[in-house]
Amino acid sequence: MQQGINSICIVGGGTAGWMAASLLSNVLKGCQIKITVVESPDISTIGVGESTVPSITGFLNTSQIDVKEFIKATSATFKLGIRFDDWYSVDEQYFHPFGHIGRDLNGFDFYQVWLKSLSEGNPASLMDYSVNAEMAKNNRFVFRPKQTKDWVLANSSHALHLDATQVTCFLRDVCLKRGVERVEATVNEVELNEDGFIKQLHTDCQKLISSDFFIDCTGFKALLIEKSLGVSVEEWSQYLPCDRAVTIQTKTDQPPVPYTIAKAQAAGWTWTIPLQHRTGNGYVFSSQYCSDEQAIKTLTDNIQGTMLTEPKIIPFTTGKRKKVWHKNCLALGLAGGFLEPLESTAIHLVYKTLVNFIQHFPDADIGIQNEQLFNKKMDCDYLEIRDFIILHYATAQRTDTDFWRWCKDMPIPDSLDHIISVFKERGELQNVYGDFFTKNSWCAVLEGMHIRPKKYNPLIDGFHQQELANMLMRSVKSIQDTVSTMPLHDEFIRQHCRANMPET
Ligand code: FAD
Repeated sequence: MQQGINSICIVGGGTAGWMAASLLSNVLKGCQIKITVVESPDISTIGVGESTVPSITGFLNTSQIDVKEFIKATSATFKLGIRFDDWYSVDEQYFHPFGHIGRDLNGFDFYQVWLKSLSEGNPASLMDYSVNAEMAKNNRFVFRPKQTKDWVLANSSHALHLDATQVTCFLRDVCLKRGVERVEATVNEVELNEDGFIKQLHTDCQKLISSDFFIDCTGFKALLIEKSLGVSVEEWSQYLPCDRAVTIQTKTDQPPVPYTIAKAQAAGWTWTIPLQHRTGNGYVFSSQYCSDEQAIKTLTDNIQGTMLTEPKIIPFTTGKRKKVWHKNCLALGLAGGFLEPLESTAIHLVYKTLVNFIQHFPDADIGIQNEQLFNKKMDCDYLEIRDFIILHYATAQRTDTDFWRWCKDMPIPDSLDHIISVFKERGELQNVYGDFFTKNSWCAVLEGMHIRPKKYNPLIDGFHQQELANMLMRSVKSIQDTVSTMPLHDEFIRQHCRANMPET
């Protein structure tokens, strides 16, 4: 039998820390590896991070957590995609849905088929072929059946909106029941060995904590990976100009909609995230173009319902840790890097980092090869998401404020430039770094930003024109018919997963 590591110490009890403990306590349950979480009673968690992508279900399954129990405990609602308001120009909206758009035809992408149909006068929009977009438009929701022959339902996919504070409480309870040790203390010194590996942590309660491996979940403080091991962040502010956010929670009497709203503003964008018991609101902005006072005013002017919290300012840096894994330390969550929250990808990156870590799990000697392979993968994951987020800013046609004029003129990474130019030619997608964002996602945003290819694949001309038109018409009708039978989103929640203790 190979010699493995015996202990893992997770420092930080925010979303990242407890996600790590939940997933590892399940995946490593046969390995007799002791898991400890050190969380400070004096340093609060960031308290945001409430919109997710569909991989949240993957995280829950891999951690063996019941989805409905999780929804009830975190006052979650369902998310079918993001509605982008005022991005291309003021008063224009588009939707980025999860799931598949349309039905591929004899091996051809649906998008190619739709492109051809436009030249023949098809009046239907790309979103008319997205079941998620239709569900969102009509405020409807059902789970996608585990197995179905119905292509409309099979095309659907969802994520969740959740209460960040309730998430950490719920995951902590799960972990404690599984035997994860919790130490309530603030780490005030990280002691290194001569080889630069972390030896032990000194805490304010005089307890020394040693471990074979450490996971830094201390948020933007990055106490282990940066302050002790000296691994810095590669900043991407030259492409992603927002560096601050202001947040406010509100009480709303309206039923929650099944999507996040991201509305472009003078110097950034505001989010609206509806939960069962309240709404999360925030304004992500660039401090170069907007003061905190202006940002608070913009947000308060945009919110609906009574304010439950005072405005809270959160400064952040957009970028990625140069090495997410270094020696015997993994940086997870905000300590690993942060891409601004426009596509709600940070919690996904926590999950993805853990999955990559498990695939390259270290032996007792913590060899360099696993670290290198892992870091290469993480680079790709971050760069793919970075490019997709930049796409939203770089293709905006707004010129009404200095912020948007800056975005219009900014140089974009070569990788993104390549994807856009290939797409513009014939609607093909050549992902440079990965395929987390599928063709459906790219097409939805590019179409929302009025970018259409010059041509389509000429072989589509081989399809019979009238048959194609009929097929497309039937597809729209099938989606509308299916969605019209679904319960309303809040009705579905009330029947299946109403929150345990709605908080106001
Ligand atoms: P934190 O929540 O900051 O937790 C850090 C923990 O470390 C705390 O428990 C603290 O007590 C502990 N700690 C710190 N120092 C010490 C010490 N010395 N000793 C012991 N413990 C210590 N993500 C999404 O997926 N979707 C979103 O919609 C989204 N929106 C966001 C909006 C904004 C404005 C920001 C800034 C982030 C957003 N995120 C979003 C990211 C998301 O908030 C984080 O990825 C997630 O909350 C994980 O945070 P964390 O656990 O890394 O850090």
